[in-house]
Amino acid sequence: MATTDRQATTLALAHALSAAERGLAVIPLSRTKLPALRSPHRDTPDPVPCHGECGRYGHGVYDASTDPDRIRELFAAAPWATGYGIACGLPPHYLIGVDLDTKTGTDASAALRELALRHLFTIPDTVVVLTPSGGRHLWLSGPPDVVVPNSAGRLAPGIDIRGAGGYLVGPGSRTDHGVYSTVPGTAHLAPAACPPSLLRLLLPPPRVPQSPVPPAAGDHGKGLVQFVLAAHEGQRNTRLFWAACRAYEDGIGPALVEPLVEAALNTGLTEREARATISSAARLTGHRG
Ligand SMILES: [Zn+2]
Repeated sequence: MATTDRQATTLALAHALSAAERGLAVIPLSRTKLPALRSPHRDTPDPVPCHGECGRYGHGVYDASTDPDRIRELFAAAPWATGYGIACGLPPHYLIGVDLDTKTGTDASAALRELALRHLFTIPDTVVVLTPSGGRHLWLSGPPDVVVPNSAGRLAPGIDIRGAGGYLVGPGSRTDHGVYSTVPGTAHLAPAACPPSLLRLLLPPPRVPQSPVPPAAGDHGKGLVQFVLAAHEGQRNTRLFWAACRAYEDGIGPALVEPLVEAALNTGLTEREARATISSAARLTGHRG
């Protein structure tokens, strides 16, 4: 690889600054696509509910900024950064990233086209970023009054959504697998408005849930899901953990993962927390997460 890390950092900063000029808030990323600055609270035993109030860097997307001076400071603090992340869900674009994967062996682009036919929307002309693995990120712009959550494979296999609290690897970023670049002719487009019928698919289910439980999971599965749904704030995680352990022990774990995640989201846990809890349950009961 001809590009040294130092050149890669300089290039990433230049790309990040030009993204910021377009109103996109950015953070430096490492070669692994993770935020380059580690949490200043990483040695604290309990999770700290700090989103940067402590005044230090290292709070992931909460560090994101459009201010060139601050961006230079962030990169100066992370001279190993070779890329940058663009925070989703922030004004003025309220960016929504549609991440079409090719690694899963499914054709996510075809899946999106099929969704578009079924739900009667057209995929607008917008910024498209090519990932080193051959995937594509479509940039869409959401309405200000709607919070689009992150999701993985909820729309269709291979389609991940980057919404509030998520970020997209920006074009010009270099990672272990190669460079992210815009599809020719799309770099200078503004992120197009997300079609309303696509937006509806991206929003979480209504608060009064009827989580679909696969028939294979039977009444026992439904009971476990109900048990999670009925959790009060202080018991959400323990109930989810308990239910997931029972599901794995009873052989319906894999079938119940998505209904349990859905139920946990309804109790107010984040998707990440829910999946982490279910994975620990899987590990504890001798299954793969
Ligand atoms: Zn902090």
